[in-house]
Amino acid sequence: MRFKCNKKEECKFCAECCRFREKTDFNEKEESDIKRALFAKTGTLYLYPFSRYTINITAEEKKILEEGAKKKEIEINILPKKIFITDEGIIIYDYFIDADVCPFLTADNKCSIYEKRPLICRQFPNIGYDNSDFLSFKNSHNIIKVNYDKCLEYVKEKLVTSSR
Ligand code: SF4
Repeated sequence: MRFKCNKKEECKFCAECCRFREKTDFNEKEESDIKRALFAKTGTLYLYPFSRYTINITAEEKKILEEGAKKKEIEINILPKKIFITDEGIIIYDYFIDADVCPFLTADNKCSIYEKRPLICRQFPNIGYDNSDFLSFKNSHNIIKVNYDKCLEYVKEKLVTSSR
């Protein structure tokens, strides 16, 4: 994902932040190693290649965006990003918009869902790294961190749909 805005300059409304997907430099093995390491440390499972992920959105924002898209007859595909297996079952911690360019970006570089845009868009480019919500989620759930391959297969079986 590209976040190349210069915080010192005023916004020029180029909307580059809404054209969010870019290639990563990882090969398949490197990507798999990183995913395994993240799983061993935090229990996070990622179903898709890193290059596919875009802005983080919450379950509540997903609902708002999907409703907005339906009203405006915009096609949108929102998929799970960070996934955990816990004693309570599979938990999707957050989601991402599966698109190279945000479907809400208009031809003249405007956000067509501006009043209801996600928090990350409101904060950009001053995105602070506050992981307190994530830490409290981790502390309040018994997250499984062993058997990466089995866990990944299980999650794939349960969550991956024809949208992949
Ligand atoms: S919701 Fe609006 S501000 Fe956020 S990425 Fe999409 S077009 Fe840009």
